[in-house]
Amino acid sequence: MFLPGIGPQRAGVLNRELGIYSLHDLLYHFPYKYVDRSRLYYVHEINGNMPYIQLKGHILSMETVGEGRSRRLVAHFSDGTGVIDLVWFQGIKYVAGKYNTRQEYIVFGKPTLFNGRVNIAHPEIDHASELTLSSMGLQPHYHATERMKRSYMNSNFIQKAISVLFNQITGEIPETLSPSIIAANHLMPLTEALRAIHFPKNPDELRRAQTRLKFEELFYIQLNILRYSQERQRKYRGFVFEHVGKYFNEFYHNNLPFSLTGTQKRVLKEIRYDVGSGRQMNRLLQGDVGSGKTLVALMSMLMALDNGYQACLMAPTEILANQHYETIKELLFSMNIRIELLTGSTRKKQRESILSGLLTGEINILIGTHAVLENTVNFAKLGMVVIDEQHRFGVAQRARLWSKNFNPPHVLVMTATPIPRTLAMTLYGDLEVSVIDELPPGRKPIVTVHQFDNRRKSLYDSIRKQIEEGRQVYIVFPLIQESEKIDLKNLEEGYQHICEEFSGYTVCKVHGKMKAAEKDAEMQRFISGEAHIMVATTVIEVGVNVPNASVMVIENAERFGLSQLHQLRGRVGRGADQSYCILVTSYKLSEDTRRRLQIMVESNDGFKIAEADLKLRGPGDLEGTQQSGIPFNLKIANLARDGQLLGYAREVAQAVINDDPEASKPENELLWKQLKSLRKTQVNWASIS
Ligand code: ADP
Ligand code: MG
Repeated sequence: MFLPGIGPQRAGVLNRELGIYSLHDLLYHFPYKYVDRSRLYYVHEINGNMPYIQLKGHILSMETVGEGRSRRLVAHFSDGTGVIDLVWFQGIKYVAGKYNTRQEYIVFGKPTLFNGRVNIAHPEIDHASELTLSSMGLQPHYHATERMKRSYMNSNFIQKAISVLFNQITGEIPETLSPSIIAANHLMPLTEALRAIHFPKNPDELRRAQTRLKFEELFYIQLNILRYSQERQRKYRGFVFEHVGKYFNEFYHNNLPFSLTGTQKRVLKEIRYDVGSGRQMNRLLQGDVGSGKTLVALMSMLMALDNGYQACLMAPTEILANQHYETIKELLFSMNIRIELLTGSTRKKQRESILSGLLTGEINILIGTHAVLENTVNFAKLGMVVIDEQHRFGVAQRARLWSKNFNPPHVLVMTATPIPRTLAMTLYGDLEVSVIDELPPGRKPIVTVHQFDNRRKSLYDSIRKQIEEGRQVYIVFPLIQESEKIDLKNLEEGYQHICEEFSGYTVCKVHGKMKAAEKDAEMQRFISGEAHIMVATTVIEVGVNVPNASVMVIENAERFGLSQLHQLRGRVGRGADQSYCILVTSYKLSEDTRRRLQIMVESNDGFKIAEADLKLRGPGDLEGTQQSGIPFNLKIANLARDGQLLGYAREVAQAVINDDPEASKPENELLWKQLKSLRKTQVNWASIS
């Protein structure tokens, strides 16, 4: 990058922290919010729930108060309508020397409640004479990480860099939408929109710029999905499973240990219709944890077997693959079906026998981890692939399964992450979606409570009672990258503490930083029932099934997203016993957090929770976009709020495809070129399957 102030060191930080590699990337690093600095507030209007505000007035006096870590500088500030405290915890000497009681200042910051009084911590202060409100307008704020701030790159710095960048740009930035689309939809031209998104003159201009950029983003996502599915339908035929035969019926009449729920039946009918249709099935099966997806998967695989095809089930971890293997083997007891397990730890000899059994067709069902994707794994006649807990798999990996037969097999993707409609439409535009929205009979809803961490004694008493009754307990700690060191320390301390508190019992420990083998061994100790308590991070989130575990304690629950809490909660409540989920937080919580936790306490409905989560946090936070398998990052559109625009963009994209099925019309040339370059730059983007 060639901008003053950004040398190789800072450029490196920008690469790593924000994925900014070029001037173009910088241009597309949009503000995450704008603060209206065109208005002044009065001190007497202020309360602790306001966003950023600004005041104009004088400092009456300054003093340092407190000792040690709570030492701070307090400036009493007044505009004639009241007095408010400005507070600094750092740079006290510098600040005290910089401001005086004679000048008139404009103070800018977020009012918060502290010790029962409203104050503003670390405000921005300018001389009133140097700022004219009319020229301030909407001030953009850019996301900057802690590491960036350590290299002195904060929001202001980015704003300046972008401003310099714009001054260097002479002519127009190459347009990315065709003139006809811009005209028909009354969109702002790109150059204008980019300028306005960084330096809006007024709210109206900002809104128009946002609409243009959001539309473009959503439009290309939809064009990509629709084009892709059009190509696929042309290229591939689906295997036709004509018969419902021997295996399916035998299983249904002899082996099925309970009756199917109405929803399981309905979903199986949907799948049955797909695989008989001649089109290749791509179906997403959403069902809350414990809703009985495994059975649906198994019976779908039996449809393939009935028609002379093989089936494969892929799980994201060895433990899950193992669990599926054991469950399914048991369910198929005494049926003439050969089923094998292939994982990274399958021994060489066993592995060779499996590979040859797959080639000859002797093996009917293969269950495994990523190991099944390897090139050496080839099937005689693969007809059905089931992918469990899809969000742990990248899209590219899914695509690789396709190449295991001359036509792609039917694909059933199962997930317990409830995906709201707008999101599903964006992510899997051409996947059909089935939903299991009913739990098998006889389940007791999990009782969820929110408890403050000063009531540990009663918490431990209830845990002890459960263990005495023969149950097992999970205790989960947060672990996120940004605060990994501290989090690991907390986990370690928590573990020590639990070991002391429950010295008569066995406690195991699992976290993502452990070696896989060690992790599996600890997990196994819990699954086998040897350990009574498992102290863990979210690694247990997906799929693990220990029906005997009846208590899920989540420490620092405020640090988890709602969907994640719901996933974790789903680890209990799998047996017949009453289960509990206990959300532990400190007493100090924001209003927002209280509300979020209250949703968890009130609802067991994953979809409702996901909707609420999407509204409260926005999908950008949906548990780290990359990890959750979302194949692209939205820079500006917000799926929670822009559902309507998404639907509209989809219609426009569909119209383009209908009107130009061969992608050959000159007026669309720009669109196809742009799509191609997007597919190239964002590798995953191209293969949403
Ligand atoms: P998930 O959807 O989370 O993968 P599972 O497939 O593991 O759920 O099912 C959870 C439990 O429910 C299993 O123990 C399974 O045997 C049981 N189950 C599934 N379907 C039914 C049913 N129709 N009636 C009773 N129990 C069922
Ligand atoms: Mg499952």
